[in-house]
Parts: sequence; structure tokens; C-alpha cells
Amino acid sequence: MGVNVFKNEPFTDFSNPEQKRAMEAALDLVASQLGGEYDLVINGKRISTEGKSVSINPSNKDQVIGHIAKADQAQAEEAMQSALSAFAWWKAVPAKERARVLLRASAIMRRRKHEFSAWLVYEAGKNWGEADADTAEAIDFLEFYAREMVRLAEDQNLTRMEGEDNELSYIPLGVGIVIPPWNFPLAIMAGMTAAAVVSGNTVVLKPATPTPVIAAKFVELLEEAGLPAGVVNFVPGSGAVIGDYLVDHPKTRFISFTGSKEVGVRIYERAAKVHPGQIWLKRVVAEMGGKDALVVDKGVDVKEAAQAIVASAFGFSGQKCSACSRAILHEDIYDEVLAHVVELTKKLTVGPSHEYNIGLGPVVDESAYNNILNYIEIGKGEGRVLAGGGKAEGNGFFIEPTVIADVDRNSRVAQEEIFGPVLAVIKAKDFDDALDIANSTEFGLTGGVFSNDRFNLAKARETFHVGNLYFNRKITGALVGVQPFGGFNMSGTDSKAGGYDYLLQFTQAKVVVERY
Ligand code: GLU
Repeated sequence: MGVNVFKNEPFTDFSNPEQKRAMEAALDLVASQLGGEYDLVINGKRISTEGKSVSINPSNKDQVIGHIAKADQAQAEEAMQSALSAFAWWKAVPAKERARVLLRASAIMRRRKHEFSAWLVYEAGKNWGEADADTAEAIDFLEFYAREMVRLAEDQNLTRMEGEDNELSYIPLGVGIVIPPWNFPLAIMAGMTAAAVVSGNTVVLKPATPTPVIAAKFVELLEEAGLPAGVVNFVPGSGAVIGDYLVDHPKTRFISFTGSKEVGVRIYERAAKVHPGQIWLKRVVAEMGGKDALVVDKGVDVKEAAQAIVASAFGFSGQKCSACSRAILHEDIYDEVLAHVVELTKKLTVGPSHEYNIGLGPVVDESAYNNILNYIEIGKGEGRVLAGGGKAEGNGFFIEPTVIADVDRNSRVAQEEIFGPVLAVIKAKDFDDALDIANSTEFGLTGGVFSNDRFNLAKARETFHVGNLYFNRKITGALVGVQPFGGFNMSGTDSKAGGYDYLLQFTQAKVVVERY
């Protein structure tokens, strides 16, 4: 196939007036399209439902992003049947042709890049930079998995045997249920869906409840790119009504999930049960939460470390599973780093995400808002609040970036995933103690170390038990192909999205031996 080597999509520089104008135009365009109706899409057919859910702008609770159809179990069953019949022929479409659909989808998305980002601004409350990074990552996933499937379809290396033809090929699994998160509602949703279909599977896609419109836009894009009907079936709906039904379904071959630990564990348990008529063990790919820490050793540039902490803690209001929610500081530099962290945090602006240069937009919805504010109250009893500490102004779910110092390693705000703009700062006696604290949660997703001591870095390399470990930089923003992403322990199955092993999870290897 005549494609260039994979290269990450560059981020947009909005300080360039031309780019700024282009983004403003996209925001205006999308604003004029808000409030539309979005149907289920089953076997290419639009199906409207009586019950609908309303997606709202978290920056402005009175603004409706769209009205979304809600599937019931009968419609989930129709979607399953559609995916099953499509699998019968989609699995036989050559890998290159499947890959070309992704490449065309990526080209269209690149042409309408700011428009997709504008949907992210309005529906997910991402500021311009975060929205742009989300769209860029979606483009990357499409480009990367397209190339990966072509590679996987090549002849595979085996030890050769005289007089025999031995061949190994990766074949698809079947129907997958794709349940993506709302925090990267374009990138991760697109990546999970694209990986499954390019590998030859068909999909029932249940978008995240707060961000269904972005997913509907992606489904439209796939159609425009030439994805045949039935390969991706779009069924927004409640987890309790259709989520469990689809996970339990005997024809479900795999579940690809990204979201909270609670839901991930529930899916894992349910998927383990073999139902009547089921002739396989379901596969579960689950990416869950984190309680990620940045460790700062003595003898480092304290300002640089503080900047990395603040960027990792408060980007997209801390609503990333990679976010730094614990800063673990060596006691010798504790006060200094903390002072810089507090100073930088106080400078961050909070406001409606469609405005230019907003530091933090809102959190995603009312339940996240209440949950985070509740944790801030708990934190007030567990440490000293030095920045933020509550709601911020506005007609949306705005929360001040909050720094809680002198937190005990075992306290709730140091152990439980808050998924909001809340940073717990913990003092360590020495570097070993810091690593010990860092490893003291049930999670193991991202982590970071600032140190100039090679011996300490080597020690962290070996013992800091996380899937993505970063030295002397922020701990968010893994790039497709560069830093395959996924975590240990209760952070999930370490699927390494954007990595060279990722597609293997959606395939099974078949060996055929012919004796001559
Ligand atoms: N891949 C993202 C990052 O490295 C985080 C993904 C997530 O929050 O689910 O920041």
C-alpha cells in the first residue's frame, strides 16, 4: 500500500491568528448546528426512539448539544444481529481494503479538524488545546491502526520445516462491544472502534452517556469514508438497560472498555460467565483508572518540576486517567516545590471552554461535579487546602483547581481516584520512601520522576510499577506510536493503545500446515 511511514498529527498553534480565526469559525459553525437529533444506526438504518437523552454543554447548562435516541434491549439485540451478519462478510474483506477505510476517515477528519475539536469544546468542555490534542490523537489512531493491520496481514515469521508450508495468520474474533469513555470522546472512542473493525471484527458501539453527539459525528464520518452498513452499529443507551445485556450476550466475542474501575470490574466479572449457546470465552480489554503520582527528588529544578505537576494535574481539569493526582516531594525541597505549585495553580483561569485561552473548562457533568466537590470537602479534613477548594463562577460545572498539602499517603484523597482538578501533595523522607508511597495504591497507570540522580532514576525504572513511566516531564499526553498507553493492577489489562501489540487483542492466530 502506498502510504508514508506513520507520523503524529501536529498540534495547532492557536497563537497564530490564522489558526485562531479558523477555530473561531469552526466554533460558530458547530454552534449553529447544536440541538440536533441523533438516531441509533443499525445496519446503516437510522432508528429514532421515543425516549431520548439530552446532551448539554458543561460550560453552559442551558445549552443543548443534541437529543440522542436511547436504545432498549430489543434494539440492542437488533444491533447485535446486524453486527453478526456483517461479520460473515466483513471478516473476508482484505486487510488493505479495511485499512483504506480508516485512512480515508482520517483524511476527512484532518480536513475538518477544527470542526471536530469544536464539538469536543461544546460537548465535553475541553479547552481549545485539549480539544485539538484529542482530535489529533483520533487522526493518529486511524492512521496508525490502518498501517498496523497491513503489517499484521503480512507473512509472519515462523521457523521453516523441510517439506511443509507453515503459515500463521491473524484472523478476527467476531462481534465486539465497544464502550468508550467520555474523557477522550473522540480519540479513544475512535481508536477503540477503528482497531476492532480494521482487524476484521464488527462492532456494537455504545457511546459514553455525556458525549454521544461526538460519537454520532464519528459514525457519520465512517459512513462518508465508505465503511459498509452493519460493521459499526451505534446504540447509545443506559449501561443498566443495554450495557449489561450486550456484555452478557452469548454472541459477544469481546468487550473493549475504557472507563472507571467500578464499571471495568463489573464487565470483567460478567464477561467471565459462559451463557447458554456461547461457544467461546469472551475477551475483555479494559482500561480503567489511575491514582498517578509525580515524584520529585532533591537537587532538581524545582520550577520545572512544579510546572510539570500543574500541567499533569489540571489539564482538562484532571479528568484524564493519566492525570497527576499525587505530588510526592522529597522533604528537602517540599516547601519550595509546593510554593511554586500553589503559585502556578492560582494563575490558572477557569471559564467556558469555547473562549480563547481558558486554563480549565468545566468538569463533565453534574455527577462528576458533586463527586469532586465532595472529595474536596473530604480533603479539607485530610490536609491543608492551599489553592482552590470549591466551586468556581459560571453557569456550568466549574471547579477551582485545588491543591491539598500535607496529605497522608493512606488518606482517601491520596488513594481514591477523584477524576477532577484536585492534587494531593505528600511529603517523603527520602527517594526510597517516595517510591514506596508512589506504589502504595491499587492502580498502576502513569507515574513520573523528577531527578538528576542517575542511580535514583535507574531504581525508579525498575521499581515504579506503572504502565507508563515518565522522567523529567509531565505524565499526561502519551502519543500514538511513541508511548503506547495502558496500565497495571486495577488500571486495567495494559492494552497499550497506540502500540504495536494493540491489534493482537482483537485477533486470534491461526496456523495452517500443509505437507507437500
Ligand atoms: N492517553 C491519555 C494520556 O496519556 C490518557 C487517556 C485517558 O485518560 O484515558 O494522557
